[in-house]
Amino acid sequence: RHKAALDARSQDNLRSPICCILGHVDTGKTKLLDKVRQTNVQEGEAGGITQQIGATYFPIEAIKQKTAVVNKDQTMEYKVPGLLIIDTPGHESFTNLRSRGSSLCNIAILVIDIMHGLEQQTLESIRLLRSRKTPFIVALNKIDRLYGWEAIPDNGVQDSLAKQSKTVQREFEDRVQKTKLALAEQGLNSELYYKNRNMARNVSLVPTSAVTGEGVPDMLKLLIDLTQNRMSDKLMYLSELECTVLEVKVIEGLGTTIDVVLSNGILREGDRIVLCGMNGPIATNVRALLTPQPLRELRVKSAYVHHKEVKAALGVKIAANDLDKAIAGSRLLLVGPDDEEEELMDEVMSDLASLESALDKSGRGVCVQASTLGSLEALLDFLKQMKIPVMSISIGPVFKRDVMKATTMLEKAREFAVMLCFDVKIDKEAEEYAEQQGIRIFSADIIYHLFDAFTNYQKELLEVKRKETAAQAVFPCVLHTVKIINKRNPMIIGVDVSEGSLRIGTPIATVRIDPATQMRQVMQLGRVISLEVNHKSVDIVKKGQAQGGVAMRLDTPANQPTWGRHVDETDILYSEISRESIDTLKDPAYRDDVTRDEWLLLRQLKAVFSIA
Ligand code: GDP
Repeated sequence: RHKAALDARSQDNLRSPICCILGHVDTGKTKLLDKVRQTNVQEGEAGGITQQIGATYFPIEAIKQKTAVVNKDQTMEYKVPGLLIIDTPGHESFTNLRSRGSSLCNIAILVIDIMHGLEQQTLESIRLLRSRKTPFIVALNKIDRLYGWEAIPDNGVQDSLAKQSKTVQREFEDRVQKTKLALAEQGLNSELYYKNRNMARNVSLVPTSAVTGEGVPDMLKLLIDLTQNRMSDKLMYLSELECTVLEVKVIEGLGTTIDVVLSNGILREGDRIVLCGMNGPIATNVRALLTPQPLRELRVKSAYVHHKEVKAALGVKIAANDLDKAIAGSRLLLVGPDDEEEELMDEVMSDLASLESALDKSGRGVCVQASTLGSLEALLDFLKQMKIPVMSISIGPVFKRDVMKATTMLEKAREFAVMLCFDVKIDKEAEEYAEQQGIRIFSADIIYHLFDAFTNYQKELLEVKRKETAAQAVFPCVLHTVKIINKRNPMIIGVDVSEGSLRIGTPIATVRIDPATQMRQVMQLGRVISLEVNHKSVDIVKKGQAQGGVAMRLDTPANQPTWGRHVDETDILYSEISRESIDTLKDPAYRDDVTRDEWLLLRQLKAVFSIA
């Protein structure tokens, strides 16, 4: 119906670009958004900034007003109808969302606190932006905190800077320089936006203050400039719908709804849509298209305004049946008159399927849970780099059934009986169940933190295991007696370590052949209680380490052989190994501690003790 109009693809008919904001916690993302949204009281509701679902829409009139201070000569052209800024700051989940292969966001604002420089989440954000090839600008926020800053509210930043004292200007230059260096270390060329002669090569830095509003006009101008001049081809209307699910929410009176960003095309009440669900594809009809009631009309009964149709770009809530298993981050496809619904179902599920193909083939690994398809993908990418195998993936809050999946690892591979949860809520019952079963749940909003917590936990587990199995972990050694120091209570022998290593706790034995029966007889001398080399106690003596011999003190078992009768200087002494002790050393808790030579020696000792 509207095809003709929509097909009028031209530079004069651009849609609004979509922008998201990200960066380290406390850099001022929320405050910056608030500042951008804030309408001047004198202007009243002018400009028509509208709060949408999960996003704020800035019509071009509002942007013109807000950028007037940096467009005094009126040379700036405005070609886009407006700007849609995604409201949920801080989460990669949204930056990583895609619509039709490319990033859902046309441009991103990476916020850096000018006083702190690059922080951990900044690095993570950069990694993500690059892997998605999302163009971005850097807001160097909190310039008002430069010592001695004189604020001129809502001013253009170049003018504000020019009016600062020499010391403020020097500190500013200094901090900008440091940030540029730090970005260069990440492989990014950057330049203050007003000195940036090559936008394709250099990331633009915009100094801002979310408190005084300085630099905010510059930031908006830059966003409009970059999107309309450098990526207009991405902003042309297509007849095809591009739509992505941001969140799945239960709303009283509406049931389960989905909040979506419509990045291209038109969506209408009654449209047949297809999206990705936890238990397979979902096909349903749009029952209602909703946006929030404007503030001043909040006394109206419903909190939402109903729309017969909506046009990109905007954030909208969709009410429909069968949405309770919908997956955040899923694409949403429109079933047109010529489309096969089944085909679209396959297409929409392929995003999840491609993530499932990353699961460990042997079925060993951690359980991973994230808020959206996008954040799950980011986390899986990272775990793959870190070589952490993944057994199962899920999207949305953690429930008991999710923990139950992880319990299968308790038997198979205890070190993986873990859930790594990124930006999701954990149900109380699930938490209790995990505690009972011994499943560790790690939850964080920063991928690195999850990784750190997990690797520390693995180290802890190994340490516990080593403590538990210390008695069975017998390292191989061969000893020759230099002289007997004390024959009993306790037995102390001066020995020479001929092979391997002698350690505290090692059980010592010798083997004699009974002349009458020709049977092997193992004489257990006891475990090593202490070791002394030159009157100094040590925990371990390796072959060749103690030239003068080691004074080895043994505990006294009830049936300790008598020196001179069952054992004497001519007997070779060994660490007493068993099948069990060998298996213990094969465990990951010890594997790295046993050298190749020691494995060879163990093989010889197996013959000595006739272990199969
Ligand atoms: P977010 O975690 O990135 O969303 O950061 P917020 O917007 O919540 O800001 C964190 C803190 O920094 C708050 O106390 C803000 O008031 C403060 N803040 C944010 N932007 C600025 C700024 O430009 N200047 C100053 N002085 N403080 C700021």
